[in-house]
Amino acid sequence: MHYVKTTNYDKFKCIADKCPETCCAGWQIVIDDESLKKYANMRGPFSGRLLNEVNFSEGCFKQYGKRCAMLNDDNLCDLITECGEDALCYTCAMYPRHVEEYEGVREYSLSLSCPEAARLILENKEKLEFIEWDDDEEDDFEDFDYLIYTKLEDARDVIYKIIQDRSLSFYRKADILMAFGLKLQEKIDNDEIFDMDDVIDEFAGDVTTLPGDDLWKKNEHITLLNKLEVLYGDWQGYIGKAYEMNEEPVLTEEEEIQAEQLLMFFFYVYFCGAVYDDMIKSKVLMSVMSVYWIFKIDRAMEKPDIIKTAYLYAREVEHSDLNLDDLEDMLKDL
Ligand code: SF4
Repeated sequence: MHYVKTTNYDKFKCIADKCPETCCAGWQIVIDDESLKKYANMRGPFSGRLLNEVNFSEGCFKQYGKRCAMLNDDNLCDLITECGEDALCYTCAMYPRHVEEYEGVREYSLSLSCPEAARLILENKEKLEFIEWDDDEEDDFEDFDYLIYTKLEDARDVIYKIIQDRSLSFYRKADILMAFGLKLQEKIDNDEIFDMDDVIDEFAGDVTTLPGDDLWKKNEHITLLNKLEVLYGDWQGYIGKAYEMNEEPVLTEEEEIQAEQLLMFFFYVYFCGAVYDDMIKSKVLMSVMSVYWIFKIDRAMEKPDIIKTAYLYAREVEHSDLNLDDLEDMLKDL
């Protein structure tokens, strides 16, 4: 097995009661089968609470007012306090660590929806790097298209190079990435998989003179977010204000680097997922627009704070599988 992780991955440490949010509210926490069995058979004083607060038929913790039933008034987890960290289910033990799975490959990252992870991602001034290693583990995914996967990996390496070229502005990078994504999509749609190499070679060279594509930039696109399930009360108000501003945020030098880190985050986590659905265009649009929208929404905030806006956005849009799938479907038709 080949493993990849971002260099910030091991720097994460939960800030617990100092966290401005909690990871135990706003979304349903799915419990893996092994933990469900463990909770059902647990003995001791906490067992009754678990039997009451776990929804065994749906495989998740019950919620009260969108808060996990295990979360106490101090925003601490009673399951950890009473039974220790080993009692956590896979979702809780992992969060905010995230893994993307491909045949023979695991890619680890931190989730932008966690405020502390968002801080690590956005405060990094250096170009993001990756740590890679291998072991003897093997797996076999049914119907995994290894050929397309290798093309996507090659394309993503070129994408990283474009994103981390600090002589280019965010807007220019976004236009180039869009043009690149549309050309790759055309090759996939026409079943010209080997010709993807020509497109990759074209964008691996000097991109400064290549024509871009600004399909991602239209102001009204941000209203697509209103069609998604809202997880936090104020969210649609922020989108409305960002839409009304109807102007492009001008990015400072520091914000250009933050935009670079966000682009790296989205492309690293999502781009190669096109191996499962062939939706390169949607993944490029989602990645580029997400960064653009985060800056637009931040400008519309009473007190702009890009780290906060980024984790709020991630909680609303990117961390919800349902919302992410709906958004990608809508983007496919733009
Ligand atoms: S959101 Fe992140 S920092 Fe906050 S409690 Fe959860 S893991 Fe810790």
